[in-house]
Amino acid sequence: MKWTEDRSENVDDRRGMGGGGMLVGGGLGTLIIAAIIFFLGGDPSAILSSGMGSAQQQTEQRDLSQGELQIREFVRMITAENEQTWAKIFQENGMQYQPAKVVMFEGVTQSGCGTAQAAMGPFYCPVDQTVYMDMSFFAELQQRFGAKVTEFSVAYVMAHEMGHHIQNLLGTLQKTEQLRRSGRYSETELNRVSVATELQADFYAGLWARYTDNREKFLEPGDLEAAMSAAEAVGDDNIQKRSQGYVNQEGFTHGSSAQRKEWFMKGYNTGDIRQGDTFNALLR
Ligand SMILES: [Zn+2]
Repeated sequence: MKWTEDRSENVDDRRGMGGGGMLVGGGLGTLIIAAIIFFLGGDPSAILSSGMGSAQQQTEQRDLSQGELQIREFVRMITAENEQTWAKIFQENGMQYQPAKVVMFEGVTQSGCGTAQAAMGPFYCPVDQTVYMDMSFFAELQQRFGAKVTEFSVAYVMAHEMGHHIQNLLGTLQKTEQLRRSGRYSETELNRVSVATELQADFYAGLWARYTDNREKFLEPGDLEAAMSAAEAVGDDNIQKRSQGYVNQEGFTHGSSAQRKEWFMKGYNTGDIRQGDTFNALLR
């Protein structure tokens, strides 16, 4: 992808500040948790509590490398392109967009939803309307999940988390939370609600890619494929196969690899926010 000139002021880079912690131990359990939170929808406070039983060690304060400063510029750029694109889409629908904040971190950081542990991966916290980008996660995505990580796959992950911010602004997350709390639905049914939530965030990411490319002409050959490779790697079927050796569709919370690709591409190809009603499509 080509870099654009835009940079957002809404990015808080907490890397290198020290005082955080590194996860000691890890292993497969941590990996599964990481994958779940990677594309978490709804209220992550239940999972983001500090009592996950992992030991922490202090990290030293340090200066960021040139490469890390470059990644900050990249995140500021993608944040700015999300702000511009969503401001336009909201305006087209007679609404006003409220931008999300973005926190870059490594290891551990505090969020409005609790303490974010190491190796959890990026997530969105609706309480403080902030996207938390665990930058150490992308190496793991490449090494352990076998995804080809490029600049645009990072952009896709950010756009997916921004998609949860859109759901927060539009009241979708609040509705799914009401369903969860009503006690009237089985775990299998709530998993289907979760899948619809996640696939809609993928649809919004595809919609963002289309609008932003129309304005900035930033996509290059191979970019969409890289995003799809990331989506494929974190599909529920792929994660289940790796973690438990078989696929159980009732346990899906994020959608299969094929569904994740399908909804991203639907957002990209239609460029029409009204086509993104995953709830109607999946829960009828
Ligand atoms: Zn998600």
